Amino acid sequence: MTDGTPLPRPQIDVASWSDAGSRDALDLVASSVAEMVGFEIAIISVVRGEQMYAVSVEGSSDATHAMLGVATPISMVLPELERADDWGRFRFVPHDRLAADVEALGWVPDLTPIDAPDAWHPLDLLIAPLLDADGEMIGLLSIDVPMSGLRPGPTQRHLLERYVVQAERALRMAVERDELAERIRLAEAARRVIGFATSQDDLESVLDDCRHPLLEGFRADFLAIRTYPHGGQPAAGSPSTGLPDHVVSRIRDVVRRAWDRQQVLVVGAASPRDALFDDDEWTAAQEALEQTGLGSMMAVPLGAGREALGHVILGRKDPTLQWSPDERSGALDVARDIGQAVVNSRNLTREQQMVRELRRLASYKSEVLSTVSHELKNPLAAVSGYVEMLDADPSITGDARRSIEALDRAARRMARVVDDLLVLAEVEDPERAGPSEPMDALPVLLDAVELTRVAARRRNLVLEVTAPEETVLVCCDAGDLDRVLTNLLSNAVKYSPARGRISVTLEAREGQVALTVADEGIGISPIDQDRLFTEFFRSTNPQAVAQPGTGLGLAICRRIVERHDGRIEVESELGVGSTFRVLLPSPETG
Ligand code: ADP
Repeated sequence: MTDGTPLPRPQIDVASWSDAGSRDALDLVASSVAEMVGFEIAIISVVRGEQMYAVSVEGSSDATHAMLGVATPISMVLPELERADDWGRFRFVPHDRLAADVEALGWVPDLTPIDAPDAWHPLDLLIAPLLDADGEMIGLLSIDVPMSGLRPGPTQRHLLERYVVQAERALRMAVERDELAERIRLAEAARRVIGFATSQDDLESVLDDCRHPLLEGFRADFLAIRTYPHGGQPAAGSPSTGLPDHVVSRIRDVVRRAWDRQQVLVVGAASPRDALFDDDEWTAAQEALEQTGLGSMMAVPLGAGREALGHVILGRKDPTLQWSPDERSGALDVARDIGQAVVNSRNLTREQQMVRELRRLASYKSEVLSTVSHELKNPLAAVSGYVEMLDADPSITGDARRSIEALDRAARRMARVVDDLLVLAEVEDPERAGPSEPMDALPVLLDAVELTRVAARRRNLVLEVTAPEETVLVCCDAGDLDRVLTNLLSNAVKYSPARGRISVTLEAREGQVALTVADEGIGISPIDQDRLFTEFFRSTNPQAVAQPGTGLGLAICRRIVERHDGRIEVESELGVGSTFRVLLPSPETG
């Protein structure tokens, strides 16, 4: 609106205000007061925000047409009430005392005053404020054009008092019903938006799903939801409205500030300029209104925490329809829910990107590992071959023989590292097939125990197995399970002094299978336990270092177990022993 031009009078759609029953009750009061007290016109208005809207008009069709649904600013009525004569509940302002622009106050009847000292003048004002239970003004009953042509006398005034009470009662009820209906409508919109916003759908479909409930809940003819580009992620939501860039960027600026203030911005011919707009932004908003062909719009900032993430623009074609206080605060609530959905979706996209990146890296790592290990295998085989040849030569003695023996040990150790690296590359490869079909765990366990038995016997270690009678099914690849158990068993043997016990247990737990390998060996310090499953970790404990090892066995075990959706745990005490427990999923039963 350009300055100086009067704002068009706002209006509400009376047919959809409150409910039919309440509107009928108001009409009945209006027609009764007119008929019983002898007036041609009776109007009941309701306060909404800064305006008062005529919601029931009794009178000629001209009067009804001119007044019904039309607003009068409260600021114009209040001063008249101040200077009025006190007639009990009614206030009377004789035409010669009226200060306001009467046209702006309502409808002026086409009436010529009769020739009498107390004749009614077309500009006379007879109104009664209608109050709520707390004494707040919720509306107005005004009457005009007495049949007698005279200002009402004592009998009429007495009668009028009774109708004020009735009008007040009917209006209170109608207002309550209207507020209730509006809240239900907005709550329903909010409920549906929350439902979509918390769904796992991608952002575009969430925003799309929110359209219908928002249009319906806010009785809007136009809706644009748009998120702003952020951290490399593009804008989402409604297609561009085709507004010039400078208009769009100005509107975004003011919307960002509106989010800081937690308020909405209303732009329309019937709404005064919000203090948050600067001149350029206000011009841009007018331009947007004009180009979209809307009568009014409510710009609602979308956000989460301190950050404005986008906006929702709700528009109505009719410039006189107002955005109620409940609609304004309801819109902000809904915008917070959508804002949360935007944040969730951004986090999800970022996570997905990270997962893709990590998978790529893991794949690259296992490719490098496997290439390097394969490249080492051939020269290593040559070294071992020559060492073997030299070893077989009986003419080599003394220092030279000792050197060959050292070479042999080094080559064997390298071969072990290369083998373990190849296994690690294989189990770490994200391209490898996932969890497997269920299979019987016991035969795999018994095989692994049998393989270890020779080494155990060499150290006088007792190896015992405990397993349930019934078959225990586990979701794991047989080769992988064998590798895990063999690693744990060989460690138990390696890190146990002569004479001791190694217990292997198989148990079916709720939805899980537990495989436990417990020894009475050298144990692991709490500090070492924290790093046990990382690649190349070997304990600093001299008793442990004395044993050959690559520090890759437990890392391989953990990778295998985790890729089968299981976990591996350790309990240990230095000098007492260690218990390693592998938990793997069992197939769902029933
Ligand atoms: P490696 O045995 O080849 O060194 P592992 O990854 O299997 O590699 O084990 C890592 C380290 O964990 C070992 O060096 C050892 O210090 C410690 N460890 C593993 N199992 C046991 C055990 N049963 N008792 C004591 N220490 C153990």
